[in-house]
Amino acid sequence: MTDLRKYYPLTRGFLYSRIAGEVKAVDGISFCISKGETLGLVGESGCGKSTLGRTIIRLEEPTSGKIMYNGTDISSLDRRNLKWFRKEAQIIFQDPHSSLDPRMTAGDSIGEALGIHGIKGDTSSVAELLEKVGLPTDFALRYPHELSGGQKQRIGIARALAVQPKLIIADEPVSALDISVQAQVLNLLMDLQREYSLTLLFIAHNLSVIRHIADRVAVMYLGKLVEQGSSDDVFNNPFHPYTRALLSAIPGKNAGRVPLQGEVPSPVNPPKGCRFHTRCPKSMKVCEGVEPQVSGTGHMVACHLYK
Ligand code: SF4
Repeated sequence: MTDLRKYYPLTRGFLYSRIAGEVKAVDGISFCISKGETLGLVGESGCGKSTLGRTIIRLEEPTSGKIMYNGTDISSLDRRNLKWFRKEAQIIFQDPHSSLDPRMTAGDSIGEALGIHGIKGDTSSVAELLEKVGLPTDFALRYPHELSGGQKQRIGIARALAVQPKLIIADEPVSALDISVQAQVLNLLMDLQREYSLTLLFIAHNLSVIRHIADRVAVMYLGKLVEQGSSDDVFNNPFHPYTRALLSAIPGKNAGRVPLQGEVPSPVNPPKGCRFHTRCPKSMKVCEGVEPQVSGTGHMVACHLYK
């Protein structure tokens, strides 16, 4: 995608509401994901990464910018052609409970995903999908309230797989789960990604999860990408002070810890210059007035410390 932006108007007033500003949730993001690759997108809550994931598959309409998929401009697809893309690209949500209809059995839920895209399915195709995600086939008859968080997320993954997608956006798929089941669901995603050569955009708020799964890593701060590179580059030789702070928060990696100060500033009035300057331990005068541009190839960073 190139220079993708998603702004939300901020209105004031009730009877005569007027636009009083914009929330710049995604503000000029460009990156590529190669076929069969897993890109880990990381950043604190509120940095815009979920909005970015939803905008890529047009669950949110982009304000501007281009989303190219296999040579097709997704950003300009009409409704009919968007249906084709919605089969190619699926999303797995963070909260497995609210993403399932409480009145539908797991089997019906998976069958519904097939039906939406006009795929003929029967009990054997549902059973096959349940087996793929490591659940017994009789789970087809269970309702969401009869399933654990990890089992519900497995149903969510089965629903996504049902339409044989090529691209999956996994939006914090394990962060609502118990620590003990997080690794199982991560391993399942990695196995399925290999088996079906899926392209995966894996969104997470901490780098420890990303480390297990991603080939490449993109770090997002307040609507912008601040660093991108291979997992080896980002984990072994992080450039950006924000990436270093996120890395130092990983348990067991506390040597030279650089704790993050304060909260993520508001995306309505992001800081001028480098958006991270209000929290950056390396901030210089130039950082307060001049926005750093992305530099480098392969391992890229947007920071005045690197030219
Ligand atoms: Fe810190 Fe300046 Fe680099 Fe921003 S540009 S991350 S404030 S050193």
